[in-house]
Amino acid sequence: MAERTDAVVVGSGPNGLAAAIELARSGYTVALLEAGDRIGGGMHTRELTLPGFLHDECSAVHPMGVLSPFFRQLPLADHGLRWLPFPASVAHPLDEGPAAMLYRSFDTTAERLGVDGPRWRALVEPFLAHPHDLLEDLLGPLRPLPKRPFLMARFGWTALRSSAALARAKFQTREARALFAGLSGHSVLPLDTLLTSALGLIFALTAHIEDWPCAQGGSRAIADALGATLQSFGGTVETGRRVRSLADVPDARVMLFDLAPRPFVGIAGDALPAGYRRRLLRYRYGPGTFKLDWALDGPIPWSDPAVGDASTVHVGGTLEEIAASERDAWEGRSGDRPYLILCQQSHVDASRAPDGKHTGYAYCHVPSGSDEDMTDRIERQIERFAPGFRDLILARHVTKPSDFEALNPNYVGGAITGGAADATQLFTRPVARLNPYTTPNPALFLCSASTPPGGGVHGMCGYYAARAAIRRLSR
Ligand SMILES: Cc1cc2nc3c(=O)[nH]c(=O)nc-3n(C[C@H](O)[C@H](O)[C@H](O)COP(=O)(O)OP(=O)(O)OC[C@H]3O[C@@H](n4cnc5c(N)ncnc54)[C@H](O)[C@@H]3O)c2cc1C
Repeated sequence: MAERTDAVVVGSGPNGLAAAIELARSGYTVALLEAGDRIGGGMHTRELTLPGFLHDECSAVHPMGVLSPFFRQLPLADHGLRWLPFPASVAHPLDEGPAAMLYRSFDTTAERLGVDGPRWRALVEPFLAHPHDLLEDLLGPLRPLPKRPFLMARFGWTALRSSAALARAKFQTREARALFAGLSGHSVLPLDTLLTSALGLIFALTAHIEDWPCAQGGSRAIADALGATLQSFGGTVETGRRVRSLADVPDARVMLFDLAPRPFVGIAGDALPAGYRRRLLRYRYGPGTFKLDWALDGPIPWSDPAVGDASTVHVGGTLEEIAASERDAWEGRSGDRPYLILCQQSHVDASRAPDGKHTGYAYCHVPSGSDEDMTDRIERQIERFAPGFRDLILARHVTKPSDFEALNPNYVGGAITGGAADATQLFTRPVARLNPYTTPNPALFLCSASTPPGGGVHGMCGYYAARAAIRRLSR
């Protein structure tokens, strides 16, 4: 008779892969099951527009990936992963004057922030005293004993307000306020929500540690390197295996699910107490996402050419405009001037497009499940800061919230970060429990971005879930 596997992981996003790797390198037998035809979850790259143009379907730029305390322990470079840095992490074009730019160097960043240059430094630099320890404390569940208690306390004190309030309190210039608002917009929360400043601060500090990179060849290269690492530790991977109920999961001592609460309940609901199941179903996901990918005849013709140096461009104008756009998405409206997250992978990675051509990638937040077509509004926003952009479009590919959910059931209503990360769900995702990766069923664990620390390609949810499962296995 075949021996019983120690652990089965369902879903091969960055967290499923991280969980499987941590279990396998700790000496346990692990099988990873993935519904799709390739492993990777949010790390896929395909020819979405024209032959020869490689587009990241989901994640594109990887500050959390390159700085992940877990990924940094893995030999990913030996398995082909090459991070490609950009001269700048973020550009934030404005209607008048030069764009605000976020460089690794404080001095170069300060050059475009006027009187707020020294203030930007004063806000962020103290957290760089022990950057990797602080990231370890921040990218995990709440712990009674953080590695850097004083830095964590200072971080908590600074971040204990909304990003709009923090930006207005700390900065005077349009440029610095907009730059901080653009970073905070990644939280997918209205900017006057408590704790949105935490994500703005985390992103600011990552940019002063490493230039935000993309992965050579596309984000799928991260998945491939993680998959190869897993196999080098003896883990097995099966694609094309959609799990519909617990009966589809091979017998194992523990099972870890790289799933959002809703699909998890669909699979394992009968094995969970009714009260816990109800709490999972009350979990909130937040707005959806509308994304465009373009094949372009050349680089985007930004009015300020420095914008072309950044991996990520926050297109949306002032703090007030970005705040209004994010508020709209939460309140069920799609505004005329959406805040966009735009990435320029082909600027440093020639493998993404044929010679002389480029790829473009941008998305905005829209009401959950919205079917509205945002194409014209997104392209008008880019034209606003890059006149002539539309003339370069050779082909475009549209992904609506319903397309995201069809691609991956974790994207409930098109929400792409594993669920709202507001004050009530940031550390207590998916529900308040002493150990959020465990469930009342001792054999079942959650390891997706719907557990702390939440969305992004960093694998930390998977790592901590695996540690919880290992404690169970070793009993
Ligand atoms: C448009 C977009 C842009 C993004 N940009 C970035 C970015 O630039 N940088 C960044 O760090 N992050 C970004 N993210 C977020 C990031 O991709 C996610 O937070 C991350 O992928 C979550 O990882 P996960 O492992 O929790 O789950 P997922 O990546 O969602 O993986 C879950 C996996 O489980 C599989 N699965 C689901 N149901 C089943 C089933 N029943 N049986 C078997 N398998 C199943 C799915 O097919 C999938 O492979 C972006 C996401 C999107 C969609």
